[in-house]
Amino acid sequence: MNIRAIERWKKVPGMQKYRYGIIALSCLAFLGPLAFLPQLVGSKDLCGELCMRRFYLYFPGMTWEDLWMHVSVAWIGVIAFFTIITVTFFFGRIWCSFICPVGGMAELGSRAIGDRWKIEFRALPQVPIRYGYLAAYMVLLPMLGVSACTLCNFVTVPRFVDALFGGATGIAFLFSVVGLTNLSLLLLMGFFSSKGRAYCQLMCPIGALDALVNRLGAKFRFTYHIRVERSRCTGCNECAKACMCGAIKMVDRIATVDQTSCMSCHDCVDVCEWHAIEWTPGPRKKQPKRIKRGIEIYPEPQWEAFAPAPAINRSRVINGLIISFMILFIAATTWLKF
Ligand code: SF4
Ligand code: SF4
Ligand code: SF4
Ligand code: SF4
Repeated sequence: MNIRAIERWKKVPGMQKYRYGIIALSCLAFLGPLAFLPQLVGSKDLCGELCMRRFYLYFPGMTWEDLWMHVSVAWIGVIAFFTIITVTFFFGRIWCSFICPVGGMAELGSRAIGDRWKIEFRALPQVPIRYGYLAAYMVLLPMLGVSACTLCNFVTVPRFVDALFGGATGIAFLFSVVGLTNLSLLLLMGFFSSKGRAYCQLMCPIGALDALVNRLGAKFRFTYHIRVERSRCTGCNECAKACMCGAIKMVDRIATVDQTSCMSCHDCVDVCEWHAIEWTPGPRKKQPKRIKRGIEIYPEPQWEAFAPAPAINRSRVINGLIISFMILFIAATTWLKF
């Protein structure tokens, strides 16, 4: 590692180092020769019973029996999917930003590559592209007989890693037409996209559905999401430059987070020197105390200065969720198998 890389690493905020560490552990748990979580169900990768991407597809003439059949084929993926969106509702997109080995590996790869080689996808109109593609993926492509597996990073990334370790399945996949197409997608919209999350933002159906739940959850005051304290924001734009998802725009020179694109990665919180953006519940007061130049201000009660409510430590919440997820996964694969 050269001196410049070490200097760059030193500047990475603590929460982001922690996030990269969790993603690296998740890659070890889900991918490559170790891949001990898929192996608990006798699977080498994230397909089959672990697939989270197929059970909700619509086929012409589909019946409830067909849906149930899809659910029972991928029953662990169904449990995992509903666990992920439940966590997202209450705490934001912790799966996508901290755990998912598929989006996570693309991001780590992209961050290791110099910026001058990368394509900037973040300025694209993400929401219409993402939900246009989701509609095509869920309805149009199945009607045309195109398989959900055709452009799927959940098979590409595990097999790419398998090939790196010399696995025959991975090498055979990468030399097939589907494998080569998917590898190009992983390189273009992963490793060589700015911040590595273009596939996540534009083409992943799990991410698209998760993002809708994130937006819904953010409407409730008791849930933890990325929120802006408008009275503190200076409009400096630092958070928008750091955002890996292009989720922050300045509206009237105040940062505004698009919850349909935010992945709850915490990078904006780390770079804001004004403490104007936080992973936090909504303001407790329903009505703003005053509105100054169009900015709503919700002052906290005076007593908070003397006895502040205990802040929730995000790392502890994430560690707790990961451990709970693993216990649930192991319990499901051990006792509930039918
Ligand atoms: S290739 Fe993708 S969509 Fe197909 S079964 Fe595997 S994970 Fe599911
Ligand atoms: S959007 Fe999809 S690929 Fe990206 S992190 Fe989320 S689940 Fe993983
Ligand atoms: S970094 Fe902070 S102060 Fe600057 S625009 Fe973002 S939220 Fe506002
Ligand atoms: S808004 Fe903040 S938390 Fe959300 S994706 Fe952008 S940088 Fe990450």
